[in-house]
Amino acid sequence: MKSQIHLIEPQGKIKKQIAIDAVLKAIQLCEQVQAEMVPTDAIQKTDRSPVTVADFGSQALICRAIGKAFPDDTIVAEESAQALRENATLLERVSGYVNRFSEDTVATTETVCEWINSGSGEVGPSFWTLDPIDGTKGFLRRDQYAIALAYIVEGVVQLGVLGCPNLPYRLDATGSGRGCLFVAIRGQGTHLYTKTGELLERVYVSEATHRFAESVESTHGDSEAHAKIANSLGITEPPVQMDSQVKYGIVSRGEASLYIRLPNPAFPDYRECIWDHAAGLIAVEEAGGTVTDANGATLNFLTGKRMYENRGIIATNGKLHQHVLKALSNR
Ligand code: AMP
Ligand code: MG
Repeated sequence: MKSQIHLIEPQGKIKKQIAIDAVLKAIQLCEQVQAEMVPTDAIQKTDRSPVTVADFGSQALICRAIGKAFPDDTIVAEESAQALRENATLLERVSGYVNRFSEDTVATTETVCEWINSGSGEVGPSFWTLDPIDGTKGFLRRDQYAIALAYIVEGVVQLGVLGCPNLPYRLDATGSGRGCLFVAIRGQGTHLYTKTGELLERVYVSEATHRFAESVESTHGDSEAHAKIANSLGITEPPVQMDSQVKYGIVSRGEASLYIRLPNPAFPDYRECIWDHAAGLIAVEEAGGTVTDANGATLNFLTGKRMYENRGIIATNGKLHQHVLKALSNR
């Protein structure tokens, strides 16, 4: 059973609008960085994953917008300013972009670092979680990536805004416009907007689609196992492989019936981060779908930045869910 707590109006409406505006601004920043990218705009983090001027810039803008509107709110975000403080060139670049898109008067490099670090909160009774660029590898390939912002109360995601700057309005439509935002509020459905903020439609999962989604990165899942499960469900189409939580987006609007993410056997100690799933999860649930771990349990967003108990994630159109869990238990 889902918790019955809903965001109390007008708080919910205000949070939604601030979150939408912040993600729209971050999309503009990301696209500008992408258009003007120079090789030094991307560096490697200590875990060897890439991070760019756009990841830092997006986090600065979104944390600033939330901090300004809700000074007491906690934000648990992916990036920290530490690497920036050690790299003056990168910090200047980030600061330049943040000032281009910020509503505030000029922010110093130190202020930009403070905005980024205001996302270093801890998981608690209520908090925001943010991935300023989910799928940085996709961003660098000019492919799919997402800006993922969610608000969680007592462990239940109440609001999710998933910005998908390169996602077409419809996957299979030729000449479709590109750049979407999935906005989901608990109890109020999932709505699709353009990246300029116009409402397109309310979206729903589909029982007529027979297609599954998985990560582009073979190390981020177990594609062999995914294929076996899909095959046992009678899904014959090849998987849609996409970076980031865009995969939740396509399940929520009925373009895939399943997003499956089983742990890669080569990385048994990897644990999923909360900001990689919270916004996507509510987009699917509010569109009529179901999201659980590989045993059918609710995702636990309260164990810290990582979901320590989690061993795999399944997002479906709802109808398929029990079949996927059964196929998993028969492995
Ligand atoms: P995706 O594009 O769906 O693969 O998601 C990108 C996210 O995968 C990144 O934000 C990383 O946090 C996460 N990631 C990194 N290594 C792994 C791994 N071994 N297994 C699962 N996810 C990972
Ligand atoms: Mg991510």
